Amino acid sequence: MPLNVIVIGAGIAGLTAATSLCKSGHSVQIFEKSSFKTEVGAALNLMPNGAIVLAKLGFDFKRALVGRHQRLETVNGVNLEPLTHINLTNVEKDYGGHMQSVLRADLHSELLLLSQRAPNPAALHLGSPVKRVDSTEGKVELQSGEVHTADLIIAADGSHSVCRSEVLGYDQPPTESGNNAFRFLIRTEMIEDLDEIKKLIPGRVPGATIFADVNDKLKTRHLAWYDCHGGALQNFVGIYPAVQHVEDMDHKTMLLEQFQHFHPRIVNLLKLADDVRVWPLRFDEPLERYTRGRLVLIGDAAHTMLPFSGQGANQGIEGAGILGEMFQDVDAVDVPERVKEFEEMRKKRITTIKLLSRIRFGRENDAAYSNIKHDEIDPKDIPRSFHERLLFEWRHNIFDEFRERQKATSLGNRHAVQSV
Ligand SMILES: Cc1cc2nc3c(=O)[nH]c(=O)nc-3n(C[C@H](O)[C@H](O)[C@H](O)COP(=O)(O)OP(=O)(O)OC[C@H]3O[C@@H](n4cnc5c(N)ncnc54)[C@H](O)[C@@H]3O)c2cc1C
Repeated sequence: MPLNVIVIGAGIAGLTAATSLCKSGHSVQIFEKSSFKTEVGAALNLMPNGAIVLAKLGFDFKRALVGRHQRLETVNGVNLEPLTHINLTNVEKDYGGHMQSVLRADLHSELLLLSQRAPNPAALHLGSPVKRVDSTEGKVELQSGEVHTADLIIAADGSHSVCRSEVLGYDQPPTESGNNAFRFLIRTEMIEDLDEIKKLIPGRVPGATIFADVNDKLKTRHLAWYDCHGGALQNFVGIYPAVQHVEDMDHKTMLLEQFQHFHPRIVNLLKLADDVRVWPLRFDEPLERYTRGRLVLIGDAAHTMLPFSGQGANQGIEGAGILGEMFQDVDAVDVPERVKEFEEMRKKRITTIKLLSRIRFGRENDAAYSNIKHDEIDPKDIPRSFHERLLFEWRHNIFDEFRERQKATSLGNRHAVQSV
């Protein structure tokens, strides 16, 4: 029997969950707070572990103008001296896929299309903020006072989730990291004739460049740059220590102030930005639990993390994408049992990735990280080098993991039956 499912939030995680559950024949309703005019936040990196899930759900990478990085570079932002270079052209054989970029709006539109696909589209209710949920009864109460009932509730309502405290039994909001991110896009045509600026792209090959501030004592300030939207847009993330700015200072002036000591070519590039936004960077400590009763937290509602691994959305996609297979052929009465299995499968990976997300690529040996201890994680399972990190983060196929677990469980059950 198909389950009645409610998904809360129609961001990347919520739409992926809806698509995956609709594909398995369930009846899905999505309640989304906003009226959905634009998906903001520029672009993001799509890693192999997320891309494999999207591919399985029928995501059209071409239509979503997903681009492939061929290099990952670190450059001294002040004097433009090259620091590290990683060739990403052949990473597929080691890490199961490529590092790619996608404009959030493109990703979101494509996921929306998928979630609305015949013969079993999800019902999308916009302008419908959820007020609270009851994980035991499967009840979802909207701000309007309407109450809906479901066999399974997927909370994908982002880092300020109203469902998190229902799962935990107490409040655990994300922690401020003390850093902010500027995010903005520049149209490629604006730099096409600017030879000085184009010299900043090493070898003129598509990929990601990180301009680091090596003299910054806290080692936080840097500017990450890669293209997206089929190369038509250049995406930037500028991370800097959150400081008190002069009141009323506009974001572009703040950006130029924070990166004023960078090389003049970079400063000239930043001057081309027009719509600069500021995001406070927050992260979660690992949660005690991610599910309760009929309720499952996914996406940033489950794991708000720093962007240093580029795994926030990818983890959301991973956790959301497996839901269809996990809840296939499950009777309504057995949902809480299957929800527990979801938690057992995801918890250790989410915890490890949350810890890793605070560490920049290549800094896996930093003392702050290598001394990390966590009750749930065997120290030998924590990646200790860049290579181990990519094996762990990227080369992970959630569908294979689920099937392996199923095989192990059914073997276990058979042994139990034989020994009775
Ligand atoms: C600077 C920066 C760079 C990043 N780069 C990357 C990257 O390269 N790769 C990567 O994988 N990730 C990256 N991330 C993280 C990524 O953006 C997030 O992890 C991802 O967008 C979270 O998606 P989500 O669907 O879980 O949550 P959200 O996008 O927050 O969506 C939540 C949805 O729920 C709705 N909602 C909220 N409350 C309610 C309610 N009460 N009722 C109904 N609806 C509700 C919201 O309106 C929204 O539509 C980056 C983040 C930052 C800040």
